[in-house]
Amino acid sequence: MTQNPPDDLPAEEVGACLTIDLAALKANWRMMAERADTAECGAVVKADAYGTGISQASSALRDAGCRTFFVALPFEALRVRRALPDAVIYVLGGLPPGGEDVFVDHAIRPVLNTPNEIETWATCCRRSGLSLPAAVQLDTGMNRLGLSEDELEALPHRKDLLDAFEISLVMSHLACADTPEHPMNARQAERFDALRGRLPDAPASLANSGGTLIGEPFLHDVARPGIALYGGRALADRPNPMRPVVKLEARIIQTRRASAGEGVGYGLAETLKRDSRLAVLAAGYGDGYLRAAGSTESRPGARVHVGGYSAPLVGRVSMDVMTADVSDIPEDLVMAGSYAQLLGSDFTVDDLADCAGTIGYEVLTDLGRRYRRVYRDG
Ligand SMILES: *Cc1c(COP(=O)(O)O)cnc(C)c1O
Repeated sequence: MTQNPPDDLPAEEVGACLTIDLAALKANWRMMAERADTAECGAVVKADAYGTGISQASSALRDAGCRTFFVALPFEALRVRRALPDAVIYVLGGLPPGGEDVFVDHAIRPVLNTPNEIETWATCCRRSGLSLPAAVQLDTGMNRLGLSEDELEALPHRKDLLDAFEISLVMSHLACADTPEHPMNARQAERFDALRGRLPDAPASLANSGGTLIGEPFLHDVARPGIALYGGRALADRPNPMRPVVKLEARIIQTRRASAGEGVGYGLAETLKRDSRLAVLAAGYGDGYLRAAGSTESRPGARVHVGGYSAPLVGRVSMDVMTADVSDIPEDLVMAGSYAQLLGSDFTVDDLADCAGTIGYEVLTDLGRRYRRVYRDG
């Protein structure tokens, strides 16, 4: 089954097509839910569901069985709420000043990260006479979001404050979950158990994708995977068991021949070593394809694929186009109007990230808005 979003662009008006495999997304969630064992498996759908489309991804995840969703910002929560009237939705970025009404009116749960946010939510609950649910985040060593031990201890009228609302989740975040053998993981799990012992009893959540794949002692009551659902690598230096979710294909605008010794693209950053057949593809950094994945004399760049054949990029990635050396691909496969795969099962999000010196998360969330988007399900 194929479905296109209403604002979809026709193929002949764009350069590239982004296909999002919702069946793979659902299969990935089911696999993470199995790994989560007796813990509930939620889903992190922040940043437009890692670039895949927050409404479509959330609906697909709900169909797979997911009931609890995590986003970074209130407007993202509203997108999920519109698609899923019954979902449990947490906003990881907390309660922005003056922003309580959105949470109350749409039954969205803030993740309270500071003493001030806890006070604001408690006041909001007292005023409305309702004990509304919220998560409390504890910092266990990452020094990012959440209450420190000192802040927790110093919380004024702690018992009154914490009794004013329903602590529906106590959470913390792992700093090194992509490295299972890192000693910080166990240290954070211990700190988490010690700190949450000082709060009223509530369901607990520590694991992102990495933590969920490592398993105990990180599973607790709710798992919060993100990257693994979208097919990205959650554990460094391990085979990635997830199915790719995104496929990106760019149209070949033009093919040309160029001779050994000639340069290609801006700055002539790469000189051809042999007489070559080149294909110019209709996608570039203006589409979110990372410029750092281009090829230079000193560092090979990303690869593209046509009919199972692989070809290297040559020269820099431009805003709208990039060039590949397709000399080793049969000529009848590489013609103006045919397509080359930039991302997919032949060359994954993490392969591109490795070429560009970044992580799959950034490749996914950079996926541009200039593509035709196609959602496939099954
Ligand atoms: C983004 C995020 C996650 C998901 O992390 P992944 O590594 O993508 O699985 C989980 N928890 C918090 C607090 C996050 O910010």
